[in-house]
Amino acid sequence: MNESHALLDLLVIGAGPAGIATAVEARQAGIQRILLLEKGPTHSFSIEKLYTPGKRVDKVYLGQQVECEGSVCIVDGSRESVLQTLDAFVNQYELAIRYDTEVAAIRRQEDGTFQVEDTKGQIYAARTVVIAIGVYGRPNRPDYPLPTSLKGHVHFDLTQPPPEGESVLLVGGGNTALEYAAFLYADHPVTLAYRGDAFVKANDINRRILEDLEAQQRLMVWRHADVASVRDAAEAPRVEITFKDGRVARFDHVLYAIGGATPQGFLQQAGIELTGKAPQVDHRFQTNVEGLFLAGDLVAGGKGSLVKAFNTGRTVVQEGLCADHLECRLPGQQP
Ligand SMILES: Cc1cc2nc3c(=O)[nH]c(=O)nc-3n(C[C@H](O)[C@H](O)[C@H](O)COP(=O)(O)OP(=O)(O)OC[C@H]3O[C@@H](n4cnc5c(N)ncnc54)[C@H](O)[C@@H]3O)c2cc1C
Repeated sequence: MNESHALLDLLVIGAGPAGIATAVEARQAGIQRILLLEKGPTHSFSIEKLYTPGKRVDKVYLGQQVECEGSVCIVDGSRESVLQTLDAFVNQYELAIRYDTEVAAIRRQEDGTFQVEDTKGQIYAARTVVIAIGVYGRPNRPDYPLPTSLKGHVHFDLTQPPPEGESVLLVGGGNTALEYAAFLYADHPVTLAYRGDAFVKANDINRRILEDLEAQQRLMVWRHADVASVRDAAEAPRVEITFKDGRVARFDHVLYAIGGATPQGFLQQAGIELTGKAPQVDHRFQTNVEGLFLAGDLVAGGKGSLVKAFNTGRTVVQEGLCADHLECRLPGQQP
């Protein structure tokens, strides 16, 4: 373990949309010593990693008409314009972010403060902690084994896209799968395998794009195609897929877009109670651990969006931290 830092007022874990919004609202409320810890090499790392370049970003997402309630907001745009907007907030509010820092453990001390430890053993001490790590940190993996010899041929995101021209089996049927398909088809032979048939989890726009691509035979769509197992064929194309209906096919790559899991283990080690998969929070997103809050997708009940993430930051600060834990200067309040 490395030596403790000076006591922070607020430690935010995860510098994505929710973490950034929380820190901006906290700055505006006059909270002094704030630090964000971010696992990735840049802020908003989930967006960097999971949104395809040029991706359209809608403010009304998954049909959710939610207005921005606080200082952080976006307009409809693209992956790049959203990243730029978030960058501008980070710079304007001079947010202190420590990158390449993945938090491993959170412990509440007897005096009510927190000790937070990263994976390198560095300890941070804080009066309050907001966990804003999203749900994408750990993409779901299939429940059948994946041969380790297929490293480089099995993917869970597009951080290292398959080389141009190589064939890809894309497994999934939600927005992410459809957006990956629309991104990859121009340079790769793409087959989308979905165990359902109606793509009900995807939005209308993505569904329409897929239907057009399929009608123009730019990619293949296999419905009711549930993968049973994956084998290394040891010659190109390497990835041999057997489906539950007995069909066998080979591809250069397989890319899974089958959602992400709530990092339950992480929340539980911090002493947070869950009901099923959902962490328990009150109306201002405080957990059962006094002074420990959640923000963003973690409290979105599986239907997260950027605007919802921004709004949770405002609620946590104004109704939680400022009401009960820290000294604040809220707009309209007497000093
Ligand atoms: C493909 C795709 C398309 C989408 N399109 C839209 C859209 O058009 N419009 C819209 O409104 N929403 C969209 N969304 C949803 C939106 O991106 C999320 O709701 C939003 O990013 C949630 O923000 P968050 O801060 O809660 O989590 P995240 O964005 O996931 O941020 C969490 C941050 O925490 C970091 N982190 C994780 N674990 C740790 C750890 N242990 N220690 C330190 N840091 C950690 C991560 O690296 C990341 O930077 C889309 C999502 C996906 C996957």
